[in-house]
Amino acid sequence: MTETFTILGTAAAEGWPAMWCPCEACREARRLGGRNIRRRTAYQLGERIHIDLGPDSFAQMLEFGLRYHRLEHLLITHSHADHLCPEELHYRSPGFVPGDPPAHLTIHGNAHVEERIRDAGFSLEDCRAQFARIVPFEPIELGEGVVATPILADHAAADEQAVNYLLERAGRTLLQGNDTGWWPEESWEFLATKRLDAAVIECTYGDHPGGVHHLGADDVLEVRDELAKLGALAANCRVITTHFSHNGRWLHEQLVDFFAPHGIEVAYDGMELEL
Ligand SMILES: [Zn+2]
Ligand SMILES: [Zn+2]
Ligand SMILES: [Zn+2]
Repeated sequence: MTETFTILGTAAAEGWPAMWCPCEACREARRLGGRNIRRRTAYQLGERIHIDLGPDSFAQMLEFGLRYHRLEHLLITHSHADHLCPEELHYRSPGFVPGDPPAHLTIHGNAHVEERIRDAGFSLEDCRAQFARIVPFEPIELGEGVVATPILADHAAADEQAVNYLLERAGRTLLQGNDTGWWPEESWEFLATKRLDAAVIECTYGDHPGGVHHLGADDVLEVRDELAKLGALAANCRVITTHFSHNGRWLHEQLVDFFAPHGIEVAYDGMELEL
């Protein structure tokens, strides 16, 4: 039996249409709607495991029928505000949940994530939660046979260890690869030991070339080719691109036009994969 992995948001930090932006890409997204409406990045595996808790968490609950109170593990990629709104965790406390408490939650993240949650000024214990510091490349057991391994991304300030998570379950493997530039060597070496059934790779810059901390469309092709060269892609691996900024300009259909001939799918909010 597989478990459903849902891509809950596919935008870069400012969302798309961006809240304050009258540019053509945002105007067109507002006019066309559908897959051009992109919330901030987050993912969920089944009912127990969630990746990132950004500013659209509430909207994603409404749109996709999520039951956050059932979550047991929250994996945070890095401390940027589009991936972590610590204040939302406070609403787990008894004052806000007077009846049956939510399931106990373990929040996994780096030192910067821990600091932002601590600085938010409430007690995790009161919120039936605990923090667990991640160590790059050290697998984390999430129960029911699910293992998450953080790999180093090329993203965020030099002193922050931003990560992407490799999820393994029942012999299948999925890589969440947003908020990264070209991975550091250790990550490539680690990925060379894996066979991915699905790879979700970011394309923040769209038709612009990527560079530091993010990728553009041409870079996505390069990343895919490098993974293939290393033997890291299973025969039927689904390669999916996500985390788009309006500054990258291409609307959903334009992204599909570019990527489809290369066998790469374009993510949209609510897209489901199997793991
Ligand atoms: Zn981001
Ligand atoms: Zn815009
Ligand atoms: Zn970021």
